[in-house]
Amino acid sequence: MSRELPTYADVVAASERLSGAAHRTPVLTSTTADARAGARVFFKCENYQRMGAFKFRGGFNAIARLTPEQRRAGVLTFSSGNHAQAIALAARLQGVSATIIMPLDAPAAKRAATEGYGGKVVTYDRYTEDREAVAKRLQAETGATLIPPYDHFDVIAGQGTAAKELFEEVGDLDYLFVCLGGGGLLSGSLLSAAALSPSCKVYGVEPEAGNDGQQSLRAGRVVPIPTPKSIADGALTTHLGELTFPIIRQHVTDIVTVSDAQLIDAMKLFAERMKMVVEPTGCLGAAAVLNQVVPTPDARVGVIISGGNVDLKAYAGYLGS
Ligand SMILES: *Cc1c(COP(=O)(O)O)cnc(C)c1O
Repeated sequence: MSRELPTYADVVAASERLSGAAHRTPVLTSTTADARAGARVFFKCENYQRMGAFKFRGGFNAIARLTPEQRRAGVLTFSSGNHAQAIALAARLQGVSATIIMPLDAPAAKRAATEGYGGKVVTYDRYTEDREAVAKRLQAETGATLIPPYDHFDVIAGQGTAAKELFEEVGDLDYLFVCLGGGGLLSGSLLSAAALSPSCKVYGVEPEAGNDGQQSLRAGRVVPIPTPKSIADGALTTHLGELTFPIIRQHVTDIVTVSDAQLIDAMKLFAERMKMVVEPTGCLGAAAVLNQVVPTPDARVGVIISGGNVDLKAYAGYLGS
């Protein structure tokens, strides 16, 4: 069975819906980063997006596409990370109620942030309950629409707007490096790159310990892996999606990996040289470029910095290590 995939036209439509709601985030450069990379590097800084990550784009777009009836019944998702905050904020801004299913032992700060944006948090015991079963029950009770974090037509289209803005601002690029978890950001970015800078080579970057995307690309099918261990907590997905994989397979140049030590090193460069807080997952693309995992000599290179939400205590530990 084939499902309809989003196209660049859907990214353009998403950018119109997001206009005035999402920040047009800055593109920053650093001569230190250029010297390390041996290239001219343009960082698209989604760590300065509303709620601190690109996920606001996809969440807002998905909610903006609901019918009046669906809006009245509200939205639902399961996440303890950036997608939870994105849905909570995007729903509040559009007058829609949001329920977020989180494990009982989710970090208190993440729960508080989601509640702070107006989301209603429902907890479950991750050792005895299945979150999808909890979601199904709530859906049946309330009629709410489930918005998953990456494998969703409107989420992918929304995520593609960050790369669209980057190309509009800096013009053609030789390379683009994108953080990869479930592939919402990468597949959306690929649609924009193919339309706006067709000769640009686009790479997905995963944590070394969670290279399911790389394995899937090699195998030609979605290869699931056990939950990986990495400090890149936004990329601990166990498989690509039914919608994201075909887009990635069609357009991506390759998928590469970086180590946690390389993520920490990139975090330090951002803090020290660019005075910028970037979360570990947000450093995936940059770490590949700074360590020349893919050599890009004298090229024009784009990097999407995906987010900046990091526990301050953990962050201080990374910087001091
Ligand atoms: C969700 C997330 C990712 C991964 O995005 P996918 O669309 O799942 O590939 C990367 N970085 C940050 C900061 C995220 O929140």
